[in-house]
Amino acid sequence: MLKLYNTLTRRLDNFQPINPPHVGLYTCGPTVYGTAHLGNLRTYVFEDVLRRVLEFNRFAVKHVMNITDVGHLTSDADEGEDKIERAARALKRDAVTIARQYENEFFRDLERLNVRQPTTILRATETIALQLELIKRLQEKGFTYRTSDGLYFDTAKFPRYGQLSGQRVAEKMAGARVKVNPAKRQPTDFALWKFSPPGAKRQMEWSSPWGVGFPGWHVECSAMSMKELGEQFDLHTGGIDHISIHHENEIAQSEAATGKHPFVRYWLHGEFLILPGQRMGKSEGNMLTLDDVAKRGFHPWAFRYLILQTHFRSKLAFSWDALAAADQGLKRLWAFVDSIPEQPRIGCAEFEERFRQAVNNDLDTPQALAILHEMLRSDYPGRAKLQSLAVFDRVLGLGLTATAERPHLQPLDATTTERLSRLIAEREQARTDKNWSRADQLRHHINQLLEPHGRVLDDTSDGPSIRVR
Ligand code: AMP
Ligand code: ZN
Repeated sequence: MLKLYNTLTRRLDNFQPINPPHVGLYTCGPTVYGTAHLGNLRTYVFEDVLRRVLEFNRFAVKHVMNITDVGHLTSDADEGEDKIERAARALKRDAVTIARQYENEFFRDLERLNVRQPTTILRATETIALQLELIKRLQEKGFTYRTSDGLYFDTAKFPRYGQLSGQRVAEKMAGARVKVNPAKRQPTDFALWKFSPPGAKRQMEWSSPWGVGFPGWHVECSAMSMKELGEQFDLHTGGIDHISIHHENEIAQSEAATGKHPFVRYWLHGEFLILPGQRMGKSEGNMLTLDDVAKRGFHPWAFRYLILQTHFRSKLAFSWDALAAADQGLKRLWAFVDSIPEQPRIGCAEFEERFRQAVNNDLDTPQALAILHEMLRSDYPGRAKLQSLAVFDRVLGLGLTATAERPHLQPLDATTTERLSRLIAEREQARTDKNWSRADQLRHHINQLLEPHGRVLDDTSDGPSIRVR
């Protein structure tokens, strides 16, 4: 039995889908105004593991994700600028071009991390009619009111508001850190439709029964998820920052429109990746991306391995040392896998059973990895280990089968390559001159240069060559 920690019930629940073997899974997608950072990517890897564990349990998963390409304002309190229009202006490009560029980058990053594509991907700008329909339904049922800048959801009319975060409206008001829009009846109320500013034309705007404007950020997720997965569905995920506003608002809109409760049965939230002592984010100015990982010569899957070593509900303190250790660990694992001779296979049943129990216990990937290593050290024959590794890798996605295609390291950039060939030639000359101390010095220098790229200098019978560590 698969058990998952449900934010809504605040306990470990047995997972029981509404219509087995089908499972509806909705994950909040990226706001495509910049490159995804390692924190964002951690969340998508956690969601990928969830989907793989569901499939491991023989569920047929429909996985839906939105792309927020309009409407996400710089403040969660419906204030400020549209993040995408702001980025477009800064880069002097149009908003759609910017959004598509970052969307492509996002999916390229996911692919590099061996994260499977969702089965359905929808863009906010391409589902406006659907969102307008939902807003109209809410208006007809009396959940909305109008202010000078938009149409708002009245959270006082929805008594269950706060069920996900466990905060009552009054507590939220007391804790509200954001400057409250005085036109709102309650600070927790949120925009369903925002009007384009008077006298200004936005790049992305649409007409509506209330005026020209654009949808509030939360509307898209309710509209898309219900269209694709039904008015009530199984699983909804995101990072923990979404619990108290975005997901609370999704629940309020959806349940108010349909009159059905619960909108979603299991809510799962991934903890943050942090840089020790700080939170990673654009506004904090400490964004690290997958390109930074590759530039330092680390394999993107080393980052995936690092993520799996921490439970998804614990903070992950990122450091280059931790990544280097994960990189080494994964390469050792691969070397071990590749050294096992290929023979007809039967698996290590006992370890497969323990692995299943671990992942079914709230996606306990650190425990699953410990079991994997224990199996590798066991007395089972190599062929049995290979068989079980193939089973484990359906969940882990770390290229642990002998035939796995593992993406290669990024090639060295032109400047480094040029510098290296100069130093190598100089060292060869020193060796010809039998100037051994100079040759050693140069070797040390070359290896220092190679180290961040995950490579070393190797003297082979064919002469010096650079190999991956
Ligand atoms: P966004 O593109 O800002 O909508 O965020 C995409 C996803 O990344 C959401 O599910 C967020 O909850 C999640 N997220 C944002 N920051 C972090 C972080 N530091 N660690 C983990 N997940 C994060
Ligand atoms: Zn969402």
